[in-house]
Amino acid sequence: CGIVGAVGTGDIAGAVFEGLRRLEYRGYDSAGLAIVDDAGIIEVAKAAHARTSLAELKDSVDAFDGRGARVGVGHTRWATHGAPVLVNAHPHLDCTHRVAVVHNGIVENFRSLREELLERGHRLVSDTDTEVIAHLLEEQLVDEAPDVALASVFARLVGHMAIAVALADHPGLVLAIRRTSPLMGARSVDAEFVASDVPGVLHRATEFFEVPEDEVVAIGPEAAGLSRARRLEELVRPQISWTSQ
Ligand code: GLU
Repeated sequence: CGIVGAVGTGDIAGAVFEGLRRLEYRGYDSAGLAIVDDAGIIEVAKAAHARTSLAELKDSVDAFDGRGARVGVGHTRWATHGAPVLVNAHPHLDCTHRVAVVHNGIVENFRSLREELLERGHRLVSDTDTEVIAHLLEEQLVDEAPDVALASVFARLVGHMAIAVALADHPGLVLAIRRTSPLMGARSVDAEFVASDVPGVLHRATEFFEVPEDEVVAIGPEAAGLSRARRLEELVRPQISWTSQ
C-alpha cells in the first residue's frame, strides 16, 4: 500500500499516478486518486480490482490532465477495515466534498469517532476507519487554518498511520502527517511531493527530505502562509544515492 501527494505544474495527476505505479511493489487491493481542479472542485477516480486497479485508473487520470490541477493525492490500498470494494477505496471525502484524504495504517479508535460524527449529523458512506479523518477535518476547518486543523484531528487519532490531504479551498497545498508509518518529502524544479517511499517520486524528484513524526508537513506554494506546518526546506535532507531511473 502507498501514498503519493503532489503540488506543482504540468500533469500533476499523471505524476501522482506514476508514483502509485512505482509503489505497486508494496501490494494493493484497490487504488484511487483525487485532484483539485482549477474550478476548485475535487475530482476522484477509484478502482477496486487487485492487480488491475491502476491500469483501470489510467483513462481517468488522462482525462484529469487539462483540468488545470496543481494538486493531487493518490493511494494504493491494503484493506484493514472494510472490504476491498470501490466505496472503501481512497481518497475519502467529507460531506461537503471539500476535503480529500488518503491514509495508510489504522485509526484504532475510529468506531467511537464514527459514532460521534453520526450523532453530529455526518453521513459516512464507507466501512473504512479512514473516512472519519475527512469528516473530522471538515468540522475543524470551520474555525482553524488547514495545518492547525490537521494537527487537531491527528491528535485525536490512535494508531500508526500516514495521511495526505488535499483541500478544494487550497488549490496550491497538500498536507501530510505520519506516526511510525513511512512517509518522505521530495522536490523537483516544478513540484513538491510526499510519498510512502523513494520509488514513488524517483521519476520526478531530485531532492529528498525526512518527514518527522507527529508534525504537519505542507507542500506547495500555499505552505508558506501556514504557521503550524513544516515546509520541505526545514526538514532534514537524507543522503540518497539511487542510480537507476
Ligand atoms: N485502514 C485503511 C483502510 O482499510 C488504510 C489501509 C491501507 O493502509 O492501505 O482503508
